[in-house]
Amino acid sequence: MKISRRNFLWAAGAVVTGTLAAKLGCSPKEPPIEPTTPGEEPTVAPSFKEDLRIQYAQTVTSICSYCGVGCGVLCFVEDGKIVAIEGDPDNPINEGSLCSKGSAVFNKYYIYDEKGNAVVNPQRVQKVLYRAPRSSNWEEKSWDWAINEIAKRFKATRDATFKEKNAAGAIVNRTEAIAWIGSAMCNNEENYIYRKFVAATGIVNQDHCARL
Ligand code: SF4
Repeated sequence: MKISRRNFLWAAGAVVTGTLAAKLGCSPKEPPIEPTTPGEEPTVAPSFKEDLRIQYAQTVTSICSYCGVGCGVLCFVEDGKIVAIEGDPDNPINEGSLCSKGSAVFNKYYIYDEKGNAVVNPQRVQKVLYRAPRSSNWEEKSWDWAINEIAKRFKATRDATFKEKNAAGAIVNRTEAIAWIGSAMCNNEENYIYRKFVAATGIVNQDHCARL
């Protein structure tokens, strides 16, 4: 088969496109390159069925957990497992785009084994772990235990440290013994509720990675 410059460029483009498509979750069969005589248009590859990784997945919207920008992501879930993540084009913050960290958010959940297969990271913490004061051991606890314990300790600390007035006699109604840190994993509405909660309970030491 004689390869013209035009055929060579077309074949090279097909290989690059195929490689990119495979990286993006498609598995196209390589189109056959038909022999052509000089001067003729290259034969168009026959259509092939795309086998998309997300073909049978359910789409779940979420928020990128890395920073305070709060970009929207689409999580593609199949059989209870995330099979792909991409930017949410309907989210007004990022309109489908993701930065390099957001593009790698899939790898917070998966690591690659020695054969290159994505497997759920066994080190991912999925249960409540509690380390008692001065203990070196982590204990597994239930979510109910954790929420009750947080509420109990929060109330005890606030009651013990709440100040109605400062040293100058001005009304302050605050506690300086509790600090509150917001999360990039929360959306605007959740952070609005946190802010109201913090103000209502008298916490003055508060922050968020995006200074919300
Ligand atoms: S890390 Fe990147 S993708 Fe994630 S919220 Fe921040 S800017 Fe958006």
